Amino acid sequence: MNKFVGYRCSLCGEEYSPVEVTYTCPKDGGNLDVVLDYDSIKNKYQPEDLLSRTDPSLWRFLPLLPVAEPEGESTPLHVAGGTPVFKFTALAEKLGLQNLWLKDESRNPTASFKDRGSAVVVARAREIGAEVVVTASTGNAGAALAGMAAAVGQKAVIFAPKSAPQAKVAQLLIFGAKVLLVDGSYDDAFDLAVSAANEFGWYCRNTGYNPFTAEGKKTAAFEIWEWWENTHRIWHEQFGTDVDHAPLTIFVSVGDGNIISGIHKGFKELFQLGWIARIPRIIGVQAEGSCAVANAFHGNTETITPVSSKTIADSISVNLPRDGVRAVRAVKETGGTYVNVSDDEILKAIAELGTVGVFAEPAGAAAYAGLIKGAGSGVVGGEDPILVLNTGSGLKDVGAAMSAASYQAAPIIKPTLKAVKRSL
Ligand SMILES: *Cc1c(COP(=O)(O)O)cnc(C)c1O
Ligand SMILES: [Zn+2]
Repeated sequence: MNKFVGYRCSLCGEEYSPVEVTYTCPKDGGNLDVVLDYDSIKNKYQPEDLLSRTDPSLWRFLPLLPVAEPEGESTPLHVAGGTPVFKFTALAEKLGLQNLWLKDESRNPTASFKDRGSAVVVARAREIGAEVVVTASTGNAGAALAGMAAAVGQKAVIFAPKSAPQAKVAQLLIFGAKVLLVDGSYDDAFDLAVSAANEFGWYCRNTGYNPFTAEGKKTAAFEIWEWWENTHRIWHEQFGTDVDHAPLTIFVSVGDGNIISGIHKGFKELFQLGWIARIPRIIGVQAEGSCAVANAFHGNTETITPVSSKTIADSISVNLPRDGVRAVRAVKETGGTYVNVSDDEILKAIAELGTVGVFAEPAGAAAYAGLIKGAGSGVVGGEDPILVLNTGSGLKDVGAAMSAASYQAAPIIKPTLKAVKRSL
C-alpha cells in the first residue's frame, strides 16, 4: 500500500502527485500539505494498532507517515520523539488551574522539537537518493538535521545566522555538517539555502518550505493523543465514566509557524480517521518582537506582513514566517488565539520552569510565559486542562539562562564554613 498520494496547496487547493513538485506550490508559492490515503489507512488500522505499539519513538506512527523508516536501528534518528509529559500540581495551583502538564521536547536526541521534522526529512532524503541535505536554521533545525543526518551517514550543509548561540553552532560542527555562518539574518540564510539547493541539487529541509518537516512535527500531536487517551482512562477508573471536562488546550511557541501547523495537521488527521471526537484548542505564543503571525491573526487576515524581529528567543526570531498562513489557521480553526510575550516574561518563565526541574531555552519557555499571561487574562479558565510544550533545552543558550537567573547570582566565597554561614 502506498499511502503517500501527493500534495495539496494550502492557498489555492491545487493537487500534485508525489513526483510533480518537491517544495512549494509552483503557482503561488503556498505551503503544500502532504496528502495520505486516509481511507486505506482507516481500513487497515484501528487506533489500538498504533496505541499498543511498544516502540517509544515517533516511528511507531509509521502507518500515518509518508516515508519508510530509514535502515538501521537504535540510532539517534530511530529514537527521535517519544518525549515525556510532566504534571505540575504546584505551578497549576499558582496559576489557578486544575490540571497542568508539560511535554518536554528538549529530551529529543539533539535537544529540541526540530528532531521530529529532521528525522522525517532525512528519511525522505534517503528515499529519493539525495546526496546532500541542506537547511537554513536559527540553530535548532540545523542541529537536528545535522544530528539526524550523522546518525545514518548522510551529508549535511547548514546555513545559520552568525548570531546563532554558540552551543547550537557547536552541535552543528560536532555532528560533522558543513557549517556556513551567514553575515545576515535568518531570513537571509533561508533564501541562500534555497538558492544553494537549486544550484547544487541538494535536498532542502528549510522550515515552511519542505512539506515533510510538518509530517515529522505532526507526530507530537499523535503522542499527545495517546497520552490524553491514557489520562482519560485513568480518570475514568478513578472517577467513573461520566466524568466530563473541558477540551484540552495546548500552548506552543511560534516562529515560522511550522510546529503549530504540524501539530494541527496531526490532530486533523486523527479527526479525519474518526479516531478523535474533537480537536484540542491550540494557542500560539510569539515574542512581542517577532509576532508577524499573531499580527495577522488579530488583524483577521491571512496576509502575513513581515516584521523586523528582535527578541532574546532566537529560535522564534523571524522576520517573515514561512508557514504563517497555516499557523493562523491552526488557532483559528481550533478556537484558540495568539498571545505575545516580552523578553522579560520569557526570562521569568525560564526561571519558573527551573523551579520544577525543567531547563528551557527562551523559545521553549515562551510557551509557558504565554500560559502565565493567558491564565491571568482569561484566555484559559481554571477548569481547562492545559498542556504546554517546551520545545528546546536551556543548555542550548546558557547566556539567556544566566540572565534569567541573575537576580540570584551565585556568590563566590572563601572555602570556609564561616563564609558559607555568612552567605546563607
Ligand atoms: C523552531 C523552534 C520553535 C518554533 O517553531 P516554528 O516552526 O518556527 O514556529 C520554537 N521553539 C524552539 C526551541 C524551536 O527551535
Ligand atoms: Zn497554490
